[in-house]
Amino acid sequence: MARSNAGNRKGLAIGIDLGTTYSCVGVFQHGKVEIIANDQGNRTTPSYVAFTDTERLIGDAAKNQTAMNPSNTVFDAKRLIGRRFDEETVQKDIRLWPFKVVSGKDRKPSIEVEFKGERKLFSPEEISSMVLTKMKETAEAFLGTTVKQAVITVPAYFNDSQRQATKDAGAIAGLDVLRIINEPTAAALAYGLEKKLQRDQNILIYDLGGGTFDVSILTISGGDEGGSVFEVKSTAGNTHLGGEDFDNRLVQHFVDEFRRKHGKDISKNPKAVRRLRSACERAKRTLSSSTTASIEIDSLFEGTDFNTQLSRARFEEMNMDYFRGTIGPVDQALKDAKLQKRDIEEVVLVGGSTRIPKVQQLLSEYFNGKSLNKNINPDEAVAFGAAVQAAILTGDRSEMIKDVLLIDVTPLSMGIETAGGVMTKLVERNQRIPHKKTETFTTYADNQPAVSIQVYEGERSMTHDNHLLGQFNLEGIPPARRGVPQIDVTFDLDVNGILHVTAEDKSTGRNKKIQIQNDKGRLSQAEIQRMVNDAEKYREEDERARERVNARNRLESYLYACKQAVENYNGSAINSSDKSTVLRACEEAQSWLDRNQLAEKDEIEHQYKALEQKCQRIMSKMHGAGDDRGQQYGRGNGYQANGDGGYSGPRVEEVD
Ligand code: AMP
Repeated sequence: MARSNAGNRKGLAIGIDLGTTYSCVGVFQHGKVEIIANDQGNRTTPSYVAFTDTERLIGDAAKNQTAMNPSNTVFDAKRLIGRRFDEETVQKDIRLWPFKVVSGKDRKPSIEVEFKGERKLFSPEEISSMVLTKMKETAEAFLGTTVKQAVITVPAYFNDSQRQATKDAGAIAGLDVLRIINEPTAAALAYGLEKKLQRDQNILIYDLGGGTFDVSILTISGGDEGGSVFEVKSTAGNTHLGGEDFDNRLVQHFVDEFRRKHGKDISKNPKAVRRLRSACERAKRTLSSSTTASIEIDSLFEGTDFNTQLSRARFEEMNMDYFRGTIGPVDQALKDAKLQKRDIEEVVLVGGSTRIPKVQQLLSEYFNGKSLNKNINPDEAVAFGAAVQAAILTGDRSEMIKDVLLIDVTPLSMGIETAGGVMTKLVERNQRIPHKKTETFTTYADNQPAVSIQVYEGERSMTHDNHLLGQFNLEGIPPARRGVPQIDVTFDLDVNGILHVTAEDKSTGRNKKIQIQNDKGRLSQAEIQRMVNDAEKYREEDERARERVNARNRLESYLYACKQAVENYNGSAINSSDKSTVLRACEEAQSWLDRNQLAEKDEIEHQYKALEQKCQRIMSKMHGAGDDRGQQYGRGNGYQANGDGGYSGPRVEEVD
């Protein structure tokens, strides 16, 4: 993997861990990684987007209003991205989600919400792009500059269409995605760099997050000139296993308990289910440090409270199949890497769900009682590694990373269908990437004018058991007996693990090349462009909504301060008529605000000025009288209008 432009850094790039439940962003700056806190001060941001009658919310603000607006609060887009509507896992998930998912173009899932009183459809890529936009803005606020480039992580086990769709989400968010890297590989970078290894080591990264499970085995070795080479040996996992599955089991358990205790079925009530789910997630977290947890939800359903307890043992019992299910991929990864358990020097835990004691115990037992490495922050390690990779790709030459080389592999075999529906592999799984391979194929009928190239990924020997990535026809083959034409098929697997396929008819010497179509499950350039335009529109709308809220808050604060000041004033600088002028003006402004919930910023500022005109003179009289209380409305509080009609008050934060 070539390191580009050593010595002269090409712009700033951030690293984003786009998680199923939470996302995290980091940047490599001044020789070290900064994990960036969002506007709420949190270092991870919920991967949630909510749509309301008036605005769109992303992150904490979206998650915090979920119970009030369950059907228009979207999460888990990562469980949909790059998948088809009719896939079994998608159908299973849909049953559990409070938001609606329908079948869209090319059988892709489409999320249906009500936004500003209208029905709207969004692709999973668009929802993910909104989360990415939030992460980008978080970084921009911290860096004080715009950010255009990013490295985004995906589970190692993501297939070609899931990777491509994630890249598309980045493009919709206005990001040039420098690289898609595997989450465990990123975590390994975090681990290895923190450790400053002296000698070669095999490490196993066990990453159990909110929605996905990944295992990767890497060898970290001292490269040329004392640098470090991170080479992924194998990877395995389950794109659909994580903390949310454990939450679902708890929800099901308590829905049954509620039915038994109170004879009522809450499962059809999205709001009740959502409240129960939040309580279950909290209880689950508690059970990682305590042996019992209680659930107390007032008026959960039809006025009935729900109070109950759960023991850690019962929680473990309910999820034991999931926990045990993580060991299979660990075994597989060892086999693929041709290593024994004892060859693994460190087992590194990543992902919030690795805090579950039973998960740790099973894994430790598998490694014959080995103690597990919990040194790196499980929530931030992936973004940390992504930030490092972003810096490497933009040519940062800092001491810590200057000789780091990352060698990744592809998680699935890829090939084409040949006669009889046979999967003929061109790329084996765990192949180092990037990788290019050409094989020659031919026709199987006399005078066959065209060949159909069908590209699949998967490990099964028949294509119908594998996953179709795309297909195209190569036409215009001159008449010839079967077996005579020579068709070169080239698989070019890029550094992101994304496949480009070309076919070329060699028989005539003509150099006809065809690239795999973007039609199956992937977004076309035109669709991406439309989504980019929409994203820009939504961003502007968000900005307008924010400005509206800020202007309202400023007006409310000002009128409140004026009202308070005159109500509490006991001096003689103003008379009772002054007082009632101010109070009346405040009342009018308040009632205007109540009547005009959707007013634009300009209108609100106009009201502000009008109020100010009515109150300013009277307030100044009070202020001039040297009464401290009068200062409540003054410049010190930041509610003063500035010369150009804007306001210099403090920015009021987003309202949940
Ligand atoms: P990640 O995707 O790595 O951020 O992991 C998030 C998942 O970890 C969510 O399902 C959380 O509920 C889960 N999680 C976070 N903290 C804990 C904890 N203390 N115990 C159990 N699960 C946790």
